[in-house]
Amino acid sequence: MHDDFSGAAALVPTGAPVVRADTRPAPREDVLPAMGDDSAATDRRQPAPLRLMAVHAHPDDESSKGAATMARYVRSGVDVLVCTLTGGERGDILNKAMDRPEIRADLPRVRREEMARAREILGVSQQFLGFTDSGLPEGDPPPPLPDGCFALEKLEDAAQPLVQAVREFRPHVMLTYDENGGYPHPDHVMTHRVSVEAFDAAADPDRYPGSGEPWQPLKMYYFVSFHKARFTALHEEMERRGLESPYAEWFKRWDDEDRAASRPELEITTRIPCADFFGLRDQALIAHATQIDPESSWFACPLEVQQAAWPTEDYHLARSMVDTELPEDDLFAGVREKVSP
Ligand SMILES: [Zn+2]
Repeated sequence: MHDDFSGAAALVPTGAPVVRADTRPAPREDVLPAMGDDSAATDRRQPAPLRLMAVHAHPDDESSKGAATMARYVRSGVDVLVCTLTGGERGDILNKAMDRPEIRADLPRVRREEMARAREILGVSQQFLGFTDSGLPEGDPPPPLPDGCFALEKLEDAAQPLVQAVREFRPHVMLTYDENGGYPHPDHVMTHRVSVEAFDAAADPDRYPGSGEPWQPLKMYYFVSFHKARFTALHEEMERRGLESPYAEWFKRWDDEDRAASRPELEITTRIPCADFFGLRDQALIAHATQIDPESSWFACPLEVQQAAWPTEDYHLARSMVDTELPEDDLFAGVREKVSP
């Protein structure tokens, strides 16, 4: 299974328009479930005292990694901004129903519209940072990356828009990928690099001059979204309920790939309870209609099985400027105390 729906082959030429959208849609009360505790009672007339930034490579990544977490924090009054480094211009169309000439002819525009629907469903703000999708090179040996793509940018050029976004939005917590990208796509690896650069440089007034007032985020996490403990729990729960599990085949592939890459899983330091928002996460993902087939095995595990067997989204705390006690169940643990409302 891919943990990313942004595929491989170039469908459209480069030079797609650079978009810097920043919309702050009103939360959709009709699709957002009520929180079962008093966190929904946050006074929305006040500016959100806590801010969360999620950094992603392509439109759709925000809906497959950490989406329920974001929806939960939005509902508890946290300001959430998704920064999307590229427009996903080189993604394949992965849903047969959407593989039509008029969509192939204008994929960048279609993906921006899909992103707009997803961010509305989740209730987050979102910005495109204007880079061009590198595509996933496939073949042995893989072909060279295309000129002008995100992964070929110099680190400082690639990080500048994110540094600026950090200085403007002033997040307390940042979410991004680990050093392997969580998935071997050159844009994901580059997304990791620019996120670390922005976390480390945004507070330094001598770095990235002209990109805003210095700001130091307090914590940075890596997504640990597709890990064995979670899929084992889902698999066992499906078997217990007499349902046919789609995971057995995945485990085998997983073992082979992990062995080949000799890549240990990241330690999970932080589990965010967000099962009430799994339905919204799926809606946001389905909004990326060119990238996901609603009939695919991605949705083979019923929501109630997921909610019972693994009701969290999980993270690895990679950097912290505040004291916190592991394991955590809140991305803002140690931060809330520092931020006066
Ligand atoms: Zn991606």
